[in-house]
Amino acid sequence: MAIDFDFELDSYEAENRIIDAEYSENDVDTEITLRPKVLDDYIGQTKVKENLKVYIEAAKQRGEMLDHVLLYGPPGLGKTTLAGIIANEMNVNIRITSGPAIEKPGDLVALLTNLSDNDILFIDEIHRLARTVEEILYPAMEDYEIDIIIGKGPSARSLRMKLPKFTLIGATTRAGQLSTPLRDRFGVLFKLELYSTDELATIVERSARILGFDIDRGGALQIASCSRGTPRIANRLLKRARDFAQVKGTGVIDSKIAKIALEALEIDQLGLDNVDRRMLEAIIKFYGGGPVGLDTLAATIGEEAITIEDVYEPYLMQIGFLSRTPRGRCVTKLAYDHLGIPFGGNNTQTSII
Ligand code: ADP
Repeated sequence: MAIDFDFELDSYEAENRIIDAEYSENDVDTEITLRPKVLDDYIGQTKVKENLKVYIEAAKQRGEMLDHVLLYGPPGLGKTTLAGIIANEMNVNIRITSGPAIEKPGDLVALLTNLSDNDILFIDEIHRLARTVEEILYPAMEDYEIDIIIGKGPSARSLRMKLPKFTLIGATTRAGQLSTPLRDRFGVLFKLELYSTDELATIVERSARILGFDIDRGGALQIASCSRGTPRIANRLLKRARDFAQVKGTGVIDSKIAKIALEALEIDQLGLDNVDRRMLEAIIKFYGGGPVGLDTLAATIGEEAITIEDVYEPYLMQIGFLSRTPRGRCVTKLAYDHLGIPFGGNNTQTSII
C-alpha cells in the first residue's frame, strides 16, 4: 500500500513548538506568576516532597543549612520551581545562574565570594559547566573554601580563601553527563518524574484560578492528557485554550473548547504534534521503521541530534512509540497503529528528497 507522506520539516515550526518543554521567552510572564512558592502548593512528585519536608525540618531544627541538592529530570518538570520553594521554606536568599552562563573560573569565584551565609546558589544545566569551572566547585562544596592563584609564572602562588556556608542546588536534564566527583558531592539527589494526567489537570486548574478564568474538570483533563507529562506544556496549552474559550465559547474552558484548541494547534489525543508525527514517518519512510542511527536521523529531518535526544525522544519513548536499540532508533507497532500505517508492510522509499 502506498502512503503519502508530507514532511518537509519546517525549522521555524520545530523551534516554536507549543509542546516543546524547554523554557521559551513567551513563558516569562506566566511562569513567574504561576510558580508555586511553598511545598504544599507544589503538585505531584509526592516522594520528593515528603523527603524534602523532612530534610528541611531537620536542618531548621539544627539551625544548619540544607545539604547540597541535585535535581534531575526532563525540562519543564519543576526543578527551578522547587529550588525557589526550598529557599522560601528555609527562609534564605537564592541566587540563580546556569552552567553556560559561568564561562570562566573567575565568574564562579565572583559568584561564590558574593554569597552570604546560608544562601542558596542555584545552577541550572549544571552538566554544562566547563571542567575548569567545575573543579573550583569541589573544595567550595566540600570545605567552603576555594584556591585562587595570584600572580603568574614562577612567582605565582596559591591562596586558600574561606567562603560563606552555602547550599548548592544543581539542576540537570542529564544526570549521566555529570562527572562522578561533582555528583558525589551532592548529599541529596532527587529525580523528578513525568506527571500523571490527574496531577497535570490539578496544576492547570490552579493556574486558571491564579490567572482569573474558569475551567471545568473535563477541560482540565483534556489539556492535561495532551501535555506530555509536563507542567510547562500544560500551562502553555491552557493559555491557548483560554483564547479559544474567549473567542469561540462562553469564556469557560470545558472539554469541547479544549478539544477545539488542541485540534487547531494540531496536537492529537496523545500530545503529539506535526513534528513528532513527521519524525516517526521519516523513520518509517526512509528506514523501514528503523533501526536508524541518531546522526543519520538528525540529518534526514534537518534537526540537531541533541534536540532529538532531549526534546523529541523522551516522550515518544515514554509512550512506547520509539525504542532505542544498540543499532539505532526503531518505531514500534504502537506508533504505526497510531499513525494509521500498516505495520510490516513495505512503506520504505529508497530515495531521499
Ligand atoms: P524546570 O526548571 O524543570 O525546567 P520549572 O520549574 O521552570 O521547570 O517549571 C515550569 C513551570 O511549570 C513553572 O512556571 C510552574 O508554573 C510549573 N510547575 C512545575 N512544577 C509544578 C508543580 N509541581 N506544581 C505546579 N506547577 C508546577
